[in-house]
Amino acid sequence: MKGEKVDLIVHNAKIHCLDDANTISDAMAIRNGKIIEVGPERQILNKFAADEYVDAEGKEVYPGFTDAHGHILSYANQKLSVDLVASKSLQEVVTRTEKYQQKTQKKFILGRGWDQSLWGSDEMPDNQLLNIAFPNIPVCLFRIDGHAALVNDCLIKKAGLSTASVDGGVIVMKDGKCTGLLIDNALSLLNNYIPRFSNSEINTAILEIQDELFQYGITGVHEAGIEFEDIDLFKSLISKKKLKLNIYAMLLPSEKNKKFAAKNGLYKYQNLSIRSFKLYADGALGSRGALLKDCYSDDKTSHGLLTMPIERIQEMSNFCSKIGYQMNTHAIGDSANKIVLSLYKKEYLLRKDHRWRIEHAQVIDQSDFHFFSDYAIFPSVQPTHAVSDQQWVEARIGKKRMQGAYAYRSLLDAFGMVAIGTDFPVENTNPFLTIFAATQRKNKDNFPANGFQVNESLSLEQVLKGMTIWAAFAAFDENLRGTISKGREATFFIVQRAIKNETIFTPNFADKTYVLGKLVYSGDEL
Ligand SMILES: [Zn+2]
Repeated sequence: MKGEKVDLIVHNAKIHCLDDANTISDAMAIRNGKIIEVGPERQILNKFAADEYVDAEGKEVYPGFTDAHGHILSYANQKLSVDLVASKSLQEVVTRTEKYQQKTQKKFILGRGWDQSLWGSDEMPDNQLLNIAFPNIPVCLFRIDGHAALVNDCLIKKAGLSTASVDGGVIVMKDGKCTGLLIDNALSLLNNYIPRFSNSEINTAILEIQDELFQYGITGVHEAGIEFEDIDLFKSLISKKKLKLNIYAMLLPSEKNKKFAAKNGLYKYQNLSIRSFKLYADGALGSRGALLKDCYSDDKTSHGLLTMPIERIQEMSNFCSKIGYQMNTHAIGDSANKIVLSLYKKEYLLRKDHRWRIEHAQVIDQSDFHFFSDYAIFPSVQPTHAVSDQQWVEARIGKKRMQGAYAYRSLLDAFGMVAIGTDFPVENTNPFLTIFAATQRKNKDNFPANGFQVNESLSLEQVLKGMTIWAAFAAFDENLRGTISKGREATFFIVQRAIKNETIFTPNFADKTYVLGKLVYSGDEL
């Protein structure tokens, strides 16, 4: 008997559809990149005849994961710079930089990934060691979160940095001299001096990142902030059929980007969608740049900083509202969150289903959680941040504020969904670390044994939805992807080991990853 013709049948599988009914099915038929039907093994095999059959050998299949907050371009830049991730001391940072320079002989050295909280004292560094090692060549080393940088005197001189006052940023001074540490908006003073890697270097790095993501079953990224020039960079890789990831790119609020948005409206170029702006309301907790209502518990002189004046945030919200764009604002401190939440309220009164997002929503005052439910504000969170920050964050913000910090369950209860990501390269891209952090509230070393603030943990089903269908909702894509169901894109992966609640972290990967019905990654090739 001849069945209806399709391109691909995946069968003998345990397909987790992640739809409303949480259907689990055996098989699916795919044609022209779309899912035609999902159902029991016999039904699909009898009804359809395919060019290709994939026997999943009883393994689980999931919709492709989306990282709802990542930075492909920053990660690409990081890959081309000195890798300082997990350095155990400032000395190690300098040594790694020296080794890199011996190999590359750069005229300007860029690095990223240091984190002083791993050095024992949590003191922010100064540039003395860096000046000794590099007296004559400019060096700029970004902190892991991208919210601070350590630069040497050579670069300070070159860029003419001499004063401590920058709106929304700090040039740290000691005895009337720059220490080399720049925080938040002070980094923008370097913009004209930092060389850009060539497009071909960046493109190669982006495709490496894509391979890394595919091996984890990640098929989409919400790219949290791009410049105007980057639109063409992505488009060119897409037109050459090289970039297959689904990219939901948020525009940074530059004049060029505003013009682009006003002209193009809701923009789509194959797998690239642009219909949102990314703003930064404040800095980060690691460098005490997050804006708090009360001062830092470990620095009574500081409340952190607002990196964009309220009037500017307001103006951007009016602009987004006018052109029908989504607004996604980075807010970490409780004060920054309150400011943005209050502003978003206005949009709700105009459009109930606006889906405007708070990125991170890291420290929320107990009295402010209601904004998420009352005004339908979408929380976008990164569970690995909780377990990365756990060792120093209570000293920084105190016990009381911890009750509303990394409070993913409370945010989910308030809004009904959370979009889940990693903020890579701030955290590892590995979604299985995210699942573990969200459900167990432990890091990859299984610390702490009983979990960190476990009352704020998510269930396995919730975190899976946060990386699939809820991430799709956060990008207005729920009718295209995020579930495995009839009519949706055939973008999915077969996982190596069943995804379940585990109390000890065990690595996991995709066996095979498909985008629009085409194989883009196979573990067999390794
Ligand atoms: Zn980010």
